[in-house]
Amino acid sequence: MRVIAVANQKGGVGKTTTAITLGTLLALRGRRVLLVDMDPQGSLTSYFQYEPEQMGKGVYEVFRRPGLPLQKVVVGTSVKGLALMPANTAQATLERQLGARPGKGLVLAQALHRYRDRFDVAIVDSPPVLGLLMVNALAASRQLLIPVETDFMALKGLERIMGSLAMVNKSLRRPLDARILPTLYDPRARAGVEALRQLYRKYPRLVLDEVIPEDPKFREAARQQQPAPVLYPRSPGVVAYERVLAHLVPGLQPAARTG
Ligand code: ADP
Ligand code: MG
Repeated sequence: MRVIAVANQKGGVGKTTTAITLGTLLALRGRRVLLVDMDPQGSLTSYFQYEPEQMGKGVYEVFRRPGLPLQKVVVGTSVKGLALMPANTAQATLERQLGARPGKGLVLAQALHRYRDRFDVAIVDSPPVLGLLMVNALAASRQLLIPVETDFMALKGLERIMGSLAMVNKSLRRPLDARILPTLYDPRARAGVEALRQLYRKYPRLVLDEVIPEDPKFREAARQQQPAPVLYPRSPGVVAYERVLAHLVPGLQPAARTG
């Protein structure tokens, strides 16, 4: 199983959109995909019409009762082949509850390792704070995708996550394969064009060639609580994520398009 974390210490940069869009595209290509919602806010979870205030299954249970079988921590979604380990708002209290318990940074890694034969890919959506939940997301993953909104403040937020990445990498046997994904790009906005140029200059090897354009279809899909690739498979934003996927998961077959 390939595990990909989506993280950035800034909110509203497209983390959850990236996780759900890539996960759905993979499922539409016949992959068995697990989405993990590490954000106590639970936007990924609410996307599938579940209530993060009421979930009795999911990340919280994984931390409180390690060793639970898969069906006790994962739910299905409207997309065939796409499963979800949902968030519960109580997740925010885990940091305090677990205190100094040894190995608390590896709980998710161990859980995913147990379920490794059940999925081809797991995509872990992270909260925008460096803490227990983000550390678990990074420690469970081989690949890290950092969505960065192409605006004035892009580089500022990025320095924080790069610092966190360096810190986490020190405690990992193999460093994470990290890539920066420019998002919400508007080629007509000077701030956007300038931010993208600075990104390529500062992190030439980390920035992906693919850029996710600003595409109103993502907000529309969120409003309808459906993944964008299901509603708008040909929209420019979804097509851009398809190209990102080709970088992340080489050897993918094209999606079987129905209808
Ligand atoms: P994060 O998880 O980093 O907080 P989200 O993925 O929730 O960010 O995105 C924040 C908002 O921006 C959401 O309303 C989402 O629908 C919208 N959005 C995300 N990506 C795009 C995009 N490429 N174009 C337009 N809107 C987007
Ligand atoms: Mg989010």
